[in-house]
Amino acid sequence: MNYKVNKDGFFGKYGGAYVPEILYKCVTDLQEAYLPILESEDFKKEYYALLRDYVGRPSPLYYAKRMSEKYGCKLYLKREDLNHTGAHKINNTVGQILMAKKMGKTRIIAETGAGQHGVATATVCALMDMKCEIFMGKTDVERQHTNVERMRMLGATIHPVTTGNMTLSDACSEAIRDWCCHPEETFYIVGSTMGPHPYPDIVAKLQSIISKEIKEQLMEKTGRDYPDYLVACIGGGSNAAGTIYHYIDDDRVQIYLAEAGGHGVDTDYTAATIHCGTEGIIHGARTLVMQTEDGQIKEAFTISAGLDYPGIGPMHADLAEKGREHVLAVNDDEAIYAGYELTRMEGIVPAIESAHAIAALKKMKFKPTDIVVLTVSGRGDKDVETYLNNKELAKEYGNF
Ligand SMILES: *Cc1c(COP(=O)(O)O)cnc(C)c1O
Repeated sequence: MNYKVNKDGFFGKYGGAYVPEILYKCVTDLQEAYLPILESEDFKKEYYALLRDYVGRPSPLYYAKRMSEKYGCKLYLKREDLNHTGAHKINNTVGQILMAKKMGKTRIIAETGAGQHGVATATVCALMDMKCEIFMGKTDVERQHTNVERMRMLGATIHPVTTGNMTLSDACSEAIRDWCCHPEETFYIVGSTMGPHPYPDIVAKLQSIISKEIKEQLMEKTGRDYPDYLVACIGGGSNAAGTIYHYIDDDRVQIYLAEAGGHGVDTDYTAATIHCGTEGIIHGARTLVMQTEDGQIKEAFTISAGLDYPGIGPMHADLAEKGREHVLAVNDDEAIYAGYELTRMEGIVPAIESAHAIAALKKMKFKPTDIVVLTVSGRGDKDVETYLNNKELAKEYGNF
């Protein structure tokens, strides 16, 4: 089976670049430039130096002893939560800002939902002295105030978006609109494996450092360089793409991903796009989309702001369809419980997004010898209030 992107930017039948005429040149310029840049010695040298000294890589691969006993396997946590700015997103923004500079761009734009990608973008713009404009739904600006203040402190301008539901999906549309108005000088730093080709491939390649390190670290710790299972949460799909990248063609490795079920996949309050979506076009790519019968994009719903997106990266739509990925839906209550569980058993407060991946363990069956690597995509400092305010949701499973 071929899982790679083809020259037209398709993963199977998903992907492509469905953009307005005015962006055609920008997108084709990027399509032509991205591989030569990513493969150049010059880029690699700068990128890996920043990953090491600025981001703090390699991130540890930690053997979680108590959780291993509980789930009857050998569980290793890939600690993306320990990166600078608290999640995996910085791996991508560091890479894209270097690309922007090499392409002579002077102005950076980005969309953000919870504000995590906005903060990661504003951070690298401060680092590289670039002008930074962030598009964020007005609803999100209000509910993610701390991240808005962080971005302002870093020197970014925030544009609150007041169209649609005023959340992430609307912020993406507005960022694309801005890009149309300033195509010459602007580089759009996309935050996940979504958007028109080549973005899904760029983001997957920049995040692939995660599985590159997993290989080396597993070899050192277990004497073999592959696990039996990989587990990650999936919103747009970037931390999942990075976690599986170097194992996609390795049949010995099973891939389990957790998407946000919200109140449940049988309700209207869900963000489980792979379970509930149908084929459509969203933000420049053909993929699975949560939409009404007449093609209106539905609002996604989940307790986790980082997973709150009604689309999914096209590579994952393809991998799920081909059966290479097993995708589980994890509901809000299960994620809250799992967040407490990891906190109390290992002393690690995970991001509520990452807690969805932890919750997937309960739905899987292991042999004691199985090696499981689970990516903790981010830290939970931003979610402490959510955990405390929703503690009663976890009651059904146990008391904390
Ligand atoms: C943004 C975010 C996610 C979801 O994005 P992906 O592109 O699917 O990885 C997951 N975890 C954390 C901590 C995030 O900030």
